[in-house]
Amino acid sequence: MKILVTNDDGIYSPGLLCLAKQASRYGEVIVMAPDVEQSSMGQAITSSKPISYKPSPIHFDGLEAYRVNGTPSDCVALGLHLFEDVDLVLSGINLGSNLGNSAWHSGTLSAARQAVLFGVRGIALSVSVGETETDFEALEPFVQDALEEVVGNKEPELLNINFPRSPRGQVVWTNQSVRQYDGKVIAQSDPMGRSHFWFTVIPIEPVDEGSDRWAVKTGKTSITPMVLDLTDNEYLKKINGSS
Ligand code: MN
Repeated sequence: MKILVTNDDGIYSPGLLCLAKQASRYGEVIVMAPDVEQSSMGQAITSSKPISYKPSPIHFDGLEAYRVNGTPSDCVALGLHLFEDVDLVLSGINLGSNLGNSAWHSGTLSAARQAVLFGVRGIALSVSVGETETDFEALEPFVQDALEEVVGNKEPELLNINFPRSPRGQVVWTNQSVRQYDGKVIAQSDPMGRSHFWFTVIPIEPVDEGSDRWAVKTGKTSITPMVLDLTDNEYLKKINGSS
């Protein structure tokens, strides 16, 4: 199996190294990741300037690794262009959960979605973070369990996996929690008195049982199967008639 590994935290993220190491248990790994952090870039692509890539073997201990001056989705597009017969794209492990509404702006999940657009399976992996540094060595067995559950399968094409900060070992299949948008804009002013704004995410409480948020909140690893099609089929049926 040939696996392209990417992320949105950048080539030097310890989460990327952890994922590349775990991916190498399943086959040939090529790492292609942004040269700087590209979190919350969603599925942006670079269309107004050229993109290039450079070998970036430091930290990757024998794995083929490259850094790209582009977005996570650029990395996937470039990787699938350069390397033939990629079977799977893994994205992460993101430092910070990508639950519920985060799906819309997450660069991590968008990279996996970009793979699916190109006809390749995509799996995004993220871990909740706290005040102390994330211990990826302690997370390794849980990453192994989650990958074991999904890597060998042919479907679904798109998966969003989230680990709690301290997993207890249970892996559950969940739905994406979409209730209301949890983004908040906080207005402040800088030392010169000029207005500026913080775009923040405030978790919605309580969580719905069976959802990705619920799983991670209760110490479980969450796996959410996803699709690309955003069509409102119920409305379409209604407007076009049900015949
Ligand atoms: Mn990130």
